[in-house]
Amino acid sequence: MPIDVLMPKLADTLVEGTLASWLKAAGDAVQAGEPIAEIETDKVTTELTAPIAGTLTKLLVDTGETVPIGTPLARIRSQSEQEPSTEDRPVAGSGHEDFTHIPDIQEKQGIAPALPARRASPLATRVAQAHGIDLSTINAPGSRITRADVDLHLAQGSQPLQTPHASMRQTEQIDGTIKEAASVPASGLRLSSTSSAPAQWDVLPLKGLRRATAMRMASVRQIPAGCAIVEADVTVLDEFYRKERDAWLAREGFPLTYTPFFLYSLAQSLRYWPVVRQALRNGQRETRDGIHVGIAVALDDGLIVPVIRSADQLDLPGLISAQADLVVRARAHRLQPEDVTGGIATLTNVGSMGGLLALPMLNENQAVMLGVGAVTRRTVGTSDGILYRSCAYLSLTFDRRLLDDLQAEQIQRLQQQVARAYERVPFYRQAFEESSVHPRDIQTLDDIERLPFTVKDDFRTTYPYRLFAVPLKDVVRLHASSGTTGKPVVGGYTRADMAMWGEVMARTFAAGGVTADDVFQNFYGYGLFTGGLGAHIGAEVIGATVIPMSGGLTRRQVMMMEDLGATVIAGTPSYTLVVAEVATEEGIDLRSRMNVRVGFFGAEPWTEGMRREIEERFGLEAFDIYGLTEVIGPGVAAECPQHQGLHVNEDHFYPEVIDPETGKRLPDGEVGELIFTCLTREALPLLRYRTRDRVALVHEDCPCGRTSVRMQHIRGRTDDMLIVRGVNVFPTQIEQVLLSHAGLTSNYQILIDRQRDALDELEVHVEADEMLHHKGTDTIGALQAAVTEDLGQALGLHAHVLIVEPRHLPRSEGKVKRVVDRRQLFG
Ligand code: ADP
Ligand code: ZN
Repeated sequence: MPIDVLMPKLADTLVEGTLASWLKAAGDAVQAGEPIAEIETDKVTTELTAPIAGTLTKLLVDTGETVPIGTPLARIRSQSEQEPSTEDRPVAGSGHEDFTHIPDIQEKQGIAPALPARRASPLATRVAQAHGIDLSTINAPGSRITRADVDLHLAQGSQPLQTPHASMRQTEQIDGTIKEAASVPASGLRLSSTSSAPAQWDVLPLKGLRRATAMRMASVRQIPAGCAIVEADVTVLDEFYRKERDAWLAREGFPLTYTPFFLYSLAQSLRYWPVVRQALRNGQRETRDGIHVGIAVALDDGLIVPVIRSADQLDLPGLISAQADLVVRARAHRLQPEDVTGGIATLTNVGSMGGLLALPMLNENQAVMLGVGAVTRRTVGTSDGILYRSCAYLSLTFDRRLLDDLQAEQIQRLQQQVARAYERVPFYRQAFEESSVHPRDIQTLDDIERLPFTVKDDFRTTYPYRLFAVPLKDVVRLHASSGTTGKPVVGGYTRADMAMWGEVMARTFAAGGVTADDVFQNFYGYGLFTGGLGAHIGAEVIGATVIPMSGGLTRRQVMMMEDLGATVIAGTPSYTLVVAEVATEEGIDLRSRMNVRVGFFGAEPWTEGMRREIEERFGLEAFDIYGLTEVIGPGVAAECPQHQGLHVNEDHFYPEVIDPETGKRLPDGEVGELIFTCLTREALPLLRYRTRDRVALVHEDCPCGRTSVRMQHIRGRTDDMLIVRGVNVFPTQIEQVLLSHAGLTSNYQILIDRQRDALDELEVHVEADEMLHHKGTDTIGALQAAVTEDLGQALGLHAHVLIVEPRHLPRSEGKVKRVVDRRQLFG
């Protein structure tokens, strides 16, 4: 009875193998255990042996073809048989792992095979289908399209190959025998191994390890990778190496190299960074536990990456012998499948061949690969002057789908900041000790949750300077918040803090299209308030022409805006409407007389209704900007042209949202209290500051292309929230209702009263516009009733509405005071 020899399963994770070459031809007699073919996976090459003695009647797959595990490769008729039988029995080749029969993969998965004009392996068909590729467009050197051909097609994008497949089949005289160069893959590596190749060119089939290496390189090229390069000072290591190497060689019989030292560092780092122990498989992230580290070994015929198991458990001598053993066996082609699987990161040392810098390509299923360049002596500028040091370039290639520069930068900055706060601010050292946390506990961004919060009251108890991490001689600026209740919050800025502030404010204005051609009129208040000088510095960084008007002197404000040709304005939204109002009083139509194109407004909560009003009156595009004195002032977050939330400058201010009751972090989209940790502030290394602003975060990509996290518009702060008869009310909720009625303005005030032993009374005073004002009391009375009804619906609470005449309520030059709470009078 003839039997089928199947593609063996060479390792656990393996799903397919490639027939590298046939060692026997159809019709040859074979002995049991005699090699009949070479099988290769992307890791190793092994021999396929005949399971029984007999005659090789048929070869079922072509050289170079990659087929799933269990695919019949050849048919052998046993010696005892005379005639072939139809009842075939499959037998796994090579004896590596036992299995009897594997149903056709297509059949099992219910995939209807496409009916291409040319034959294609089931795997190739499946991969092509998954990528929506028409099989007829794939160039393949063999008679059948293989998985490798599809991979190459994918790696090459839609670039057409120079030659049609038919012309690629050619015969070449190699080693005195005629072989068909059918396994030359259609890759860039082939150069032009086509019929047009000049006769004197050597054209050899790409096979074995070289072919596997080529295939893998082509397939990993599809991974979006980044590469970060640093120059490491390795003088101490180099001195040790130079001192020991001769004695080592004499004693051990093989040379000492730098590699094990770098391996040691890599293995130890991997232990501390779960984030780089990840892999992306089937669209999911896996975090691996065993620190199995691969080392790239260049052989004459390709690249192989044997793996040192649990490398973090080995000391240096242990790593040296593990590495030596693997390299020796790799060179001798004696690696076992398990020697080359399971790695979670890889090291490649191009320095051993004199290379200064490697730009490694990622290994499949690994998030990082470390390249080590040659250790050379260089002159380096240090704080002790120019020194002669041993240095090496270290390059880390990383999978951008799993890791990005921002995360890496954030965690590095967080660690530095936490260490600084701990070392230099006694307040923080004590807080750390009280919550039993140490800077070394902060190893991932999630560890931030272990840090204690900072609250507004901490500014009071440390007033004025005891939260600073630098001496006053390094502080070049002070600002303070209004401090209406008790001591103000004092913020200090070093020169570097000022530069950072300028940068984040410049980003803010650049998002609204401000350039050096703009004339920027700033009506945020100058002085201790951060708004004025904060906006000022950003506009100057951009190079706009700044008019430092500050708030107030509103008539002059309007005159300057017109005379100096302001194209950009910035201020609190409430004062901006005061400016508009004064202009109207002067009979000036802002839209036709001014050039203002864009405006930046913030420092207080405002609604879409106010935005519309500002945009209409000035004929500009309004951007919401957010910040607070404790963190830096304006520049913490700002809108982009999509106006779908404010992008947080999270490379400097790391945001979280917590449930204010439990202190637990809330997921994206859930409204809670906004927390900031300053990652780069020198003077004030504020950690987990509770802003009392209520908001939700959104990590989804923004259509504008910025990738930074967004926060929603602030609905109000916890301190602005009024509790009236047990109902929570934000002033912005009231504003929203008022501005939905024609005739009402955004000048309103909320009064809360309580008569002795009675319930709270909520009263809303709102100014009528001129038109409504002239309509008479009947219209106004009816509108009052309608708004009272709407407010009742929106708040679930009765509020008495009073429409007052224009310009009746107080105006503000900065932040407006909306609420007058008279309940305190009765304790
Ligand atoms: P103070 O606490 O005395 O008002 P700040 O100027 O530091 O002094 O105020 C910061 C606060 O202003 C923020 O915490 C937030 O409540 C509010 N704020 C700032 N910008 C905005 C904005 N764009 N939208 C809503 N509220 C804002
Ligand atoms: Zn955006």
